[in-house]
Amino acid sequence: MGQKVALVTGGTGGIGTAICKELADMDYKVASNYRNEEKAQAWKKKRADEGYEFILVEGDVCDYEACGRMVAEIEEQAGPVDVLINNAGITRDTTFHKMDPSQWTDVINTDLSSVYNVTRHVIEGMRERRFGRVVNIASINGQRGQYGQANYAAAKAGMHGFSMALAQESAKHGITVNTVSPGYIATDMVMAVPERVREKIVAQIPMGRLGYPEDVAHVVGFLVSDKACFITGANLSVNGGHYMGW
Ligand code: NDP
Repeated sequence: MGQKVALVTGGTGGIGTAICKELADMDYKVASNYRNEEKAQAWKKKRADEGYEFILVEGDVCDYEACGRMVAEIEEQAGPVDVLINNAGITRDTTFHKMDPSQWTDVINTDLSSVYNVTRHVIEGMRERRFGRVVNIASINGQRGQYGQANYAAAKAGMHGFSMALAQESAKHGITVNTVSPGYIATDMVMAVPERVREKIVAQIPMGRLGYPEDVAHVVGFLVSDKACFITGANLSVNGGHYMGW
């Protein structure tokens, strides 16, 4: 059998890069989207220097039609998408009484509607081939809420509602749908938080450190593997004990 194809949205970001490498190490052909050509080419070159070859296709995950073109182009270049990791995301933090409509809609569109926009274009093919893996990258702050993140917490909690519903519809078609909820991971998103705030966050993490992007990527790798074939509709926390739900 040929190599399976994985699409990682936001694959050029901190966690996305680690997921792309993890899946490539598992012998997937890995594709990601980009918005900025120059930034994407610099990323691609850096990865090539590390020995990785990735497919990059233009696509804004907020745009349903653009996602259709992106998936079609990946399928033309590499073959059908068997694995989808909905990882692209942004934050626009502010307390709710100061939140303007664009801060709400930008986050809901990028972090939640994107999951519809991309998954809708791959799900029928997965059903026809009777195999698929969808992993949605949510957040600890979707599980427990977070001051200044009503938009982000709503979007990330919504992602897991989506996972559970689609998991039920897809189980008999050989497709699993799961959520991974990272805690605070040392990427640009978290390093942009002022140091004194970051120190307070680390003090709340039982393991006493921020997570590494690879901590998340290994769990994604497990969920898409055959070993996780009986796991669907689950939400796996990767947070060093920062939030313990059950
Ligand atoms: P980064 O900011 O490093 O990466 C985000 C990626 O998403 C970038 O590649 C970015 O592309 C892409 N992206 C954003 N908006 C769009 C869009 N409209 N269309 C296409 N691509 C887009 O973030 P992280 O790696 O830290 O986060 C990855 C995921 O993990 C996010 O969903 C985040 O919410 C989640 N997460 C992160 C945590 C952390 O501690 N870092 C904790 C919990 C969850 P571009 O370069 O063009 O902007």
